[in-house]
Amino acid sequence: MVEWAIAATWPFGRVAVEAGSQLLAEGIGVIDAVEEGICRVEVDPAVDSVGVGGIPNLVGDVELDAALMRGSDLAVGAVASVTGFPNPVKIARLVLEKTPHHVLVGQGAERFADSHGLARGPLLTGSSIEAWNKRCQGIGNSSSPTGHDTVGVVALDSAGKIAAGTSTSGMALKLPGRVGDSPLVGAGFYADDVSGAAVATGCGEYIMRGCLSFRIVELMAAGATAQEACEEGLLGLIKRLRNSVTLDDAQEDGKKMAVLAIDKNGCVGAAANHGDFQFARTSAGDPVIHLVRAAKVGLGR
Ligand code: ASP
Repeated sequence: MVEWAIAATWPFGRVAVEAGSQLLAEGIGVIDAVEEGICRVEVDPAVDSVGVGGIPNLVGDVELDAALMRGSDLAVGAVASVTGFPNPVKIARLVLEKTPHHVLVGQGAERFADSHGLARGPLLTGSSIEAWNKRCQGIGNSSSPTGHDTVGVVALDSAGKIAAGTSTSGMALKLPGRVGDSPLVGAGFYADDVSGAAVATGCGEYIMRGCLSFRIVELMAAGATAQEACEEGLLGLIKRLRNSVTLDDAQEDGKKMAVLAIDKNGCVGAAANHGDFQFARTSAGDPVIHLVRAAKVGLGR
């Protein structure tokens, strides 16, 4: 039997790891563990970039993106630009299991969620409205609006099955209808039982240019450890884009990226182009939740 393991992006990913690891320890399947972990973060109004209390777009609506991927058959369920549902990852799960499709967006996704009786609920909170007002006052300043982050979860269960999932409100003050990397297979997430899984967080426009999560899983398939794959994958994208944009040692919020991966043995790796990225992880062999700062990669390292 394989030893289960689970990891999630950012310190707020701790609750995802806590909930997901309880299920994995009971022998519940990996896709349930990843979904449940993400759900817990989505309903926490204190997490200001995911689900309830998420960051509003330019016109003040909270538009959510979420996804799940099953590594046994590479099946995907994803939703983008969804409003009015506190748990978009639940819609993603239903897309994966109940439709012949992989991605639903906007009203189509919302109607589909209604047809399956998923709970609607308010996403705006007092503090998200306040933060939106402040950001709007800053429009026109030279720096781009700050604020984003994704809960991304990767896990391996004791049957050797792997899954990945994401959920986010995307970039602050995004244009209505903007879709980031998080619901795009290969960009914000990828999972394959044969090699491992990866998720990304940070500026989705750069992450998607490099199909970063797929690239990291392919590096693991070629024999890299999760840590090597994260570092090589992210550095490769920074190098590839160096003539058009400097993503090395990112200081600006809009240039920050981070990746998190798990290999088929449950080893976890992570990398970022800045020093702020932390993730939570635990495993059957070391059942304590660790908060770990990721390795910083860059051309000048
Ligand atoms: N990747 C997300 C997006 O671009 C935001 C983030 O994770 O910081 O929508």
